[in-house]
Amino acid sequence: MKYFLPFCMLALLTVAGCKNAPSETDAPLQGAVDSINQSPPRPGSPPLAARLYEAFEQYREPAITNLRFKHSDITALLDSLPPEFEVTVLGASVEGRSISEVQLGEGPTPVLLWSQMHGDEPTATMAIMDIFNFFQARGDGFDSLRAEIKEALTLHFIPMLNPDGAERYQRRNVLDVDLNRDALRLQSPESKILKAARDRTQAVWGFNLHDKNRYYAAGDSPETASVSFLAPAFNTDKDINEGRADAMQLIVLMDEVLQQYIPGKTGRYDDTFEPRAFGDNMQKWGTNTVLIESGGLKGDREKQYLRRLHFTILLTAFEAMANGTYENWPREAYEDIPYNESGDFHDLIIRNANRLYESQSFLTDLAFRHREIDYQDARKYYLRGSLTDLGDMSTYHGYEEFDAAGYTIVPGKVYAKALPDVAALRQTDLQSLVRQGYTDFQITNLPHSSVSAQWPVALLAPGKQPNNTIYQYGNPSFLLEKAGQYDYVVVNGFIYSLLEQNPAFDLPQ
Ligand SMILES: [Zn+2]
Repeated sequence: MKYFLPFCMLALLTVAGCKNAPSETDAPLQGAVDSINQSPPRPGSPPLAARLYEAFEQYREPAITNLRFKHSDITALLDSLPPEFEVTVLGASVEGRSISEVQLGEGPTPVLLWSQMHGDEPTATMAIMDIFNFFQARGDGFDSLRAEIKEALTLHFIPMLNPDGAERYQRRNVLDVDLNRDALRLQSPESKILKAARDRTQAVWGFNLHDKNRYYAAGDSPETASVSFLAPAFNTDKDINEGRADAMQLIVLMDEVLQQYIPGKTGRYDDTFEPRAFGDNMQKWGTNTVLIESGGLKGDREKQYLRRLHFTILLTAFEAMANGTYENWPREAYEDIPYNESGDFHDLIIRNANRLYESQSFLTDLAFRHREIDYQDARKYYLRGSLTDLGDMSTYHGYEEFDAAGYTIVPGKVYAKALPDVAALRQTDLQSLVRQGYTDFQITNLPHSSVSAQWPVALLAPGKQPNNTIYQYGNPSFLLEKAGQYDYVVVNGFIYSLLEQNPAFDLPQ
């Protein structure tokens, strides 16, 4: 939808922005054939948003490069903020990690932003660090914007509300309690801190900043819900009072900005009232609350591009709150944002393959997801494939899709001879061995699973047998055969072509 608004003309400004879309190097552990699919920005959003988007790289906090940063990384950054930022330790988590508030501006309208209430939902925390850098800059063309925001608003940021969860990269706190179901009982210290901050600041606006899993679709479309919104209800009747309507208008503005960069890839949560959740209660307590959740985006597993979009929409929202222009956006357009469809996405879908079972043949789609397996203090992970579902997957979408019509699934074989180490495996003509149907290799000096997670062959200890049969939640290695030839191989939920020389078979050192 398009709106007639005073700032529709500067669309050209945004066109260059796409060139700065993330490269593959932004996402070190993404799928082998994963890449950003960016469309040119559409006209319509405020020129301010386009300028912020363009200028982003100069504010990107370089100390944070992926999602798995910890409390110590954040405190180091907060400690180095200049006096313009008022940093207050509000209390500590169950395990004693500090939870701080950063206050900025001296305007009459208090705004409260809290991120990472769920420990493994860090995208907005990254963007908040970038916003702190933005507010320290001078002479970059945004001096008047900063002044306008600080004169009108007092911003209260609580980055990383759940540091114990972040340490483990898990949703819940160390008591295994979901803080977002503790808004009434207030048993966890982290919840008490958030409620006290709301009561002390009497925040007019609230930003409840989360992530969600990468498998949500935007409505019935084959698009990911890469960013989702909610103006939470404050009662079971889901009434819309003035504060909730304001939150909806702000969401319409932010959604329109996002349409420039990730068209069709936004969603909206169902607004069923959850009596224990913070967003719903904040709304009830009188804070105009906006929930923003980062989801999945192709080519951006580490969400460094979504971080940039977060930076852009938050600062655009601050300006609109500061000068009241959020009121220009039609509240009804909130209803046009499609609902999130949970679970509609998979990392890889192979469609229309022939699956043999004894002497019978069945048309089968195979849907894979990749689970992140933690290692090294949950600072790193590797991906493990899982055949999440199979059968008729026609209502689902894949980050990667392959039409295997005419192909037959053939389970991979184990290469008979055990090799001493990975170096010996590199010495082989690996692709030609795979073309002969070998997918699994016995290695005496077996490396950590993280090493080979994105190799086009599976490694196993000598004497071990893989289970390459097709069954739900298995992780089979198999080939796609047509006319007696193996043209593709699937290993650990990634598909690789065997049709021509494939550099994936030159195993990295
Ligand atoms: Zn969450």
